[in-house]
Amino acid sequence: MKVAVVGTGYVGLATGISLAYLGHKVTCIDIAVDKIESLRQGKLPIFEPGLEELFLKAKQNLHFTTSFTQGLEQSNVIFLAVGTPANSDGSSNLTYLFSAVDETIAYLSYHKWPTVLVNKSTAPVGTSDLIVERVEAACIQHVVTVASNPEFLSQGKVVNDTLYPERIVIGGDDRAIRVLQELYSPIISQSFASPEQTPRPKHLKGVPIISVDTRSAELAKYAANAFLAMKISFINEIANLCDLVGADVTKVAAVIGKDSRIGSSFLQAGIGYGGSCFPKDTLALQFISNTIGYDFKLLSSVISVNNSQKFIIIEKLREELGPLYGKKIAVLGLTFKPGTDDIREAPSIPIIHSLLSGGAEVYVHDPVALDKARASLPSTVHFMNQLSDALIDADGALLITEWPEYLEIDAEYLSSVMRRPLFIDGRNAMDTSSWRGIIEYRGVGISNNE
Ligand code: NAD
Repeated sequence: MKVAVVGTGYVGLATGISLAYLGHKVTCIDIAVDKIESLRQGKLPIFEPGLEELFLKAKQNLHFTTSFTQGLEQSNVIFLAVGTPANSDGSSNLTYLFSAVDETIAYLSYHKWPTVLVNKSTAPVGTSDLIVERVEAACIQHVVTVASNPEFLSQGKVVNDTLYPERIVIGGDDRAIRVLQELYSPIISQSFASPEQTPRPKHLKGVPIISVDTRSAELAKYAANAFLAMKISFINEIANLCDLVGADVTKVAAVIGKDSRIGSSFLQAGIGYGGSCFPKDTLALQFISNTIGYDFKLLSSVISVNNSQKFIIIEKLREELGPLYGKKIAVLGLTFKPGTDDIREAPSIPIIHSLLSGGAEVYVHDPVALDKARASLPSTVHFMNQLSDALIDADGALLITEWPEYLEIDAEYLSSVMRRPLFIDGRNAMDTSSWRGIIEYRGVGISNNE
């Protein structure tokens, strides 16, 4: 099939490259000239494990352009995968989405090519209806079918999540379902496996297609993210309770996670969720609820727990060090999770601001995101290319992102280079079995286990 993907961020590139890898002819469109230029030169503008290898294999089926006219030509399917960031009131900013919709409709009004216009961006319930209204206003509803196909991929695992999704949700009419089923047919097939890439996860037999109305598809995306955010805030509250009653949240999580009704994922206590999705999507769902007069109390608590959770490690630092003025603090990790270079809504940013406002000298390290972070942090922050330079003479270290290289840090080494070997683990990620007596260790909800 001929496919156009509008937006070359994490979702657009994962979608475009995967579909090209499966044999479709894909053109990716973006308004960011530098991104398109970099992609044309064979360079991915994002860091995402495995995506570069897939990109190389799919290259002959991929084109990149800033022109809607060139990019949309004769496309059977057009995906919209542009950003829908939060406005200051929590609502979704749909400027980028409707700008892309309008450009697309302008092209289709002139060329009247039969196509399916598929929204992959996370957008409020009713957005597809608004797109349909625009299609009808342009009198092209006989050729253009609108569908919602929310994306559930997770950064750091986009290759796996795109080639082997746990479900494909299609909101739309029979024509949309038929066309998208054909497009995704290699992925849906039970036998599809990409030997060069990660193998098919054993628990996934085929991929279920769930066809629903567009409003249910749109709400399902928010519901999924809100539920995962709820699990994180729940276990963080349990962790805070563990600190007070002398229990260990990792053990509590292991026990409850064995219950298949609960499940073990997203029960890692720590400094809370961040990134470009959970924070904005929970706020957007809260805004949607408030707008129609529904008080979504549980969701409000999830958001408020997460807002305060990130500062818990600063409290722990203060408990150990007293005032932070003049103290050298090493911050390990800036991205909102490992496996990505994304620092959008990363807890590291407010944590660093809080350290600075307490007068601490902040030395940060991250294996991939130092350059991106420079633009979001004050110039008083010290950016260290070498982890050792961040740790030398530090009065305390904060683990913010559980990058694999941090998990291998040796206790003897820490104790030899730091002024005070105090390690606060914001992700409960370190194996501290051999740390006793060498490092002062505090986790979140496991502080009694030093
Ligand atoms: P992103 O910010 O990484 O990329 C968006 C891209 O869209 C940018 O390159 C931008 O230049 C481009 N763009 C903006 N306006 C445009 C226009 N009018 N025409 C063409 N290109 C335009 O965003 P992302 O992380 O890929 O997310 C895209 C959407 O998918 C969002 O709605 C997000 O909520 C949703 N989503 C994201 C993830 C994720 O993990 N990142 C997962 C699921 C869903």
